[in-house]
Amino acid sequence: MTVGIVWFRNDLRTADNPALSEAIARCDRLLPIYIHAPEEAQPNSPGAASRWWLHHSLVDLDRSLREIGSRLLIRRGSSQALLDQVVGDSNASYVFWNRLYEPALIARDSQIKTHLQSSGVTCLSANGSLLLEPWQILNKSKQPFRVFTPFWKAHQSRAPIDPPKPPPDAVPSVPRNIDSLQITDLNLLPNIPWDDGLRATWSVGEEAAHAELEVFLHQRLSSYAEDRDRPDRVGTSRLSPYLHCGQLSPRQVMYAVEGYTSRNTQAGLVKGAEVYKRELGWREFAYHLLYHFPDTVEAPLDRRFALLPWRNDYAEDLAAWRAGQTGFPIIDAGMRELWHTGWMHNRVRMLVASLLTKNLRIHWKEGERWFWDTLVDADLANNIQGWQWTAGCGADAAPYFRIFNPVLQGERYDPEGNYVRRWIPEIAKLPNKVIHKPWEAPDVTLTAAGIQMGVTYPLPIVDLKTSRRAALEAFEQVKRGKQGVAV
Ligand code: FAD
Repeated sequence: MTVGIVWFRNDLRTADNPALSEAIARCDRLLPIYIHAPEEAQPNSPGAASRWWLHHSLVDLDRSLREIGSRLLIRRGSSQALLDQVVGDSNASYVFWNRLYEPALIARDSQIKTHLQSSGVTCLSANGSLLLEPWQILNKSKQPFRVFTPFWKAHQSRAPIDPPKPPPDAVPSVPRNIDSLQITDLNLLPNIPWDDGLRATWSVGEEAAHAELEVFLHQRLSSYAEDRDRPDRVGTSRLSPYLHCGQLSPRQVMYAVEGYTSRNTQAGLVKGAEVYKRELGWREFAYHLLYHFPDTVEAPLDRRFALLPWRNDYAEDLAAWRAGQTGFPIIDAGMRELWHTGWMHNRVRMLVASLLTKNLRIHWKEGERWFWDTLVDADLANNIQGWQWTAGCGADAAPYFRIFNPVLQGERYDPEGNYVRRWIPEIAKLPNKVIHKPWEAPDVTLTAAGIQMGVTYPLPIVDLKTSRRAALEAFEQVKRGKQGVAV
């Protein structure tokens, strides 16, 4: 009898799971296991919102496995020691997993592979979370890409991606004598119940992910190209947490989009699909960068920006930014949406990151850490890329001189102020003309709207004009620093 272990990580699904399929093909007995070892991901062990998502994902995966004759074993501790133990208890000769790309986890997995292989266990790893492996595309000089457009062109010119696999009908059962912790033993849910908003916003699990994908295809894909920048509309797919945790594979999403557009001729679909696939391309690019430049977890990809004089005395401003109390409505709406739902619209992520890193000149790592703790889709590759891009120090970065103006951006992408009104009820009665700049509203308008600036809603914590100038000067210094002038 051939016994195998399937080590689940960020691939918490049964369909299109290459490690699971390979294991079913090779083994008569299977032990699906999830090992909770947050310290092994240090300094990026999962944040509070991710732990919440993980809890519900594990419950869902266990339920799915039970429906097809198996169950999920739960353990907590050292991955290597626990795999050793399960190999010993079950006489397994195989361990299967889908690859991870975070630098600390690549190192851990390589070590475990060497260790297990040396004791005669065959380890088979597969690609379960990307369209192409980060090493499969390089530029003409065989170097990693640093700019998105040629990366995506090269990506698209590769051989077609294999179609996704359906879920297995059955999985060989787990021997009765193999014990497991309860999912609740992992203490992933918060002790203080701050998660009402998350519960009201999300259905977690593989089925829920597919349902969300279907709704997106039928209702939003055709207008995606126009609506994706509008936080006041539900215009995007909202699939990011499912993709991060692996309830959906990007292959499934890509095939679903291509299948749907080939069957439907609705106006806008072709364009929407192209723009949408490009966003999946940004995800691939983020993983490409993280894999080839692992030190970007801490350091800017564009090394010149390591010299940037970030502020030191920022505790109060950082607290206001986190709490959605900066006095800039579109920023505060985004930060409150994040706190309440564990998600924030992409355009608003760029705006809040620009305000923090450019106007407030607070190190991008501070913002990255807050997002890491509060996003249900917190993803090391995408988060690092998003922050470095906005701060102007990453690959293909927004030019350093692009400093988003939260008032103009708000007026452009939330023209009726609906997004702001939803998240900042205290200024909801302001007319559209001043909803994105309440400090400019005449006293009579403020009084009519029941607002006392500085009391019921804060005055802006930073002057946009002067802080913009100061940021540009700091960036100029950095550029001169490259030419040998100390900064
Ligand atoms: P859609 O517009 O429907 O896009 C589809 C999918 O493409 C997304 O689910 C996501 O997987 C991928 N995608 C879209 N935009 C990007 C992008 N710019 N970079 C990489 N992949 C992208 N995304 C995360 O998944 N996790 C993060 O931790 C994260 N942190 C970010 C931090 C900052 C400062 C910024 C500016 C962006 C960040 N993003 C992050 C990227 C992007 O904001 C989210 O992926 C997107 O908002 C998710 O919503 P959606 O699924 O509706 O996206």
